[in-house]
Amino acid sequence: MSNKEANILEIFYSIQGEGILVGLPFIFVRFSECNLKCNYCDTKFSWDKKEFCNIENKKIRNPVSIDNFIEIISNLPFEYLSFTGGEPLINSDYIEESIKKLNKKIFIETNGTLYEKISDFLLKNVNYWSIDIKLPSVIGKNIFSLHYKFFEKLINASGKIIAKVIFSKDTTLKEIEEVEILSNHFYEQNKNISLVFQPLTVNNIIKIEKNQLDMIYNTMKNLKFEVRLIPQIHKILKIP
Ligand code: SF4
Repeated sequence: MSNKEANILEIFYSIQGEGILVGLPFIFVRFSECNLKCNYCDTKFSWDKKEFCNIENKKIRNPVSIDNFIEIISNLPFEYLSFTGGEPLINSDYIEESIKKLNKKIFIETNGTLYEKISDFLLKNVNYWSIDIKLPSVIGKNIFSLHYKFFEKLINASGKIIAKVIFSKDTTLKEIEEVEILSNHFYEQNKNISLVFQPLTVNNIIKIEKNQLDMIYNTMKNLKFEVRLIPQIHKILKIP
């Protein structure tokens, strides 16, 4: 028995709508709470703790004990499990405990700021780290220094690193160059990185200008490692 518990907003399954695993069936575990308040956040409903956790068509009371959580997840299909939010690393101990008891491929979808939450255990046992590089033009503040610290911690990670950059119509060349410097610096020390550019989707509408695409293409030409441009597929398909 373990006494760990967490506030979970929802547990559901869908396809992975972003990044290099796009299209694969996943179980998603969405934790409540986030340490950032991004302007464009499309999961603002996850910022506060909720009384209930929704699991497909039933509800259970929060917080959810780790034993209850393991039982629920063990009975769900699919081999990929995404911890998302909110910011999942707020619950890093809970995630760690879950990984010890589950036989799933673990994917953590993080805002790339809570570097102090990355334990040696997570470094060894998380299969995929999907890390947002948040641009000032998109979130309204500059947090590159936190991203540097976060990526520094992941240099010895065993899993795949997927750096995801959401850009908007206001994104500047200087910001994209900063992404290039950060990701190239990381690649020199850990080759297991892919970079994904993702146009901002608001109300299921993607707005990209030709000059922005040129800016992204030019950056893609300069990178030595795998880089892609992919929109959010789940929003195009209008699924969760
Ligand atoms: S980090 Fe993610 S969940 Fe948190 S406010 Fe930003 S977009 Fe929303």
